[in-house]
Amino acid sequence: MTQSGYFLTVAGIPVLLERKPVKHLRIKVRPPEGRIQLSVPLQMSDDAVRKAVLSKINWIRKQRLHFSAQLRTLPLEYKDGEKIPFKGREYELTLIEQQGRSCVEVTEPRLIRLCVRPGSSRDARRKVMDDWYRRELKKTAAPLMGKWQQIMGVQAGEWRIKRMKTRWGSCNTRARRIWINLELIKLPVYLLEVIVVHELTHLLEPSHNKRFKTLMSRFLPDWQKRQKALKSHSPRPAKLP
Ligand SMILES: [Zn+2]
Repeated sequence: MTQSGYFLTVAGIPVLLERKPVKHLRIKVRPPEGRIQLSVPLQMSDDAVRKAVLSKINWIRKQRLHFSAQLRTLPLEYKDGEKIPFKGREYELTLIEQQGRSCVEVTEPRLIRLCVRPGSSRDARRKVMDDWYRRELKKTAAPLMGKWQQIMGVQAGEWRIKRMKTRWGSCNTRARRIWINLELIKLPVYLLEVIVVHELTHLLEPSHNKRFKTLMSRFLPDWQKRQKALKSHSPRPAKLP
């Protein structure tokens, strides 16, 4: 126990505990990245804290999702020190201007290094980031596509990535072609997953009828919860004025 506090991980989420002479546990979810901070009574055990946090986990997840939605709607300049969304988490951008090839690297804890030529414009920086986002989405979606095609016993003709303004995904059932919105790489992977399953389900049932919903519930019992969570986000990328 220290005065400045310490971290526990609850349900995969780091939680900062601060011991204080308070009567009751207080949970705060702080913007912009949804950091969780607890004021904990001095005599309360870590186990009791864990249980209390778990009992509020749905509320906490909702708050965090709300903040990540806000974060994603901030127009980005890709400047040094800027907050960058990636797979539902916030990373700090380190801009490195150097000769040679442009690159993007994720370094822990929570840093994204963007290397560009000296004096690169905002559009050039965005292009490097978008190319990287696209590669990362491909890398993340490919195993999900493989896994779910096997489980569901369907085969897409092909799947591709593009920016869409109004949809997270789409499926051309005749061509058996699936489109995934590039913006999904900024959100938690479980939201990408529900789109993968949704679009693959269209290969079995083209419309959103009762059969479609039954199939979705069989494959992914919490699909409605996930799709609802997606509703708090816009599929349209944030644009600078
Ligand atoms: Zn659909």
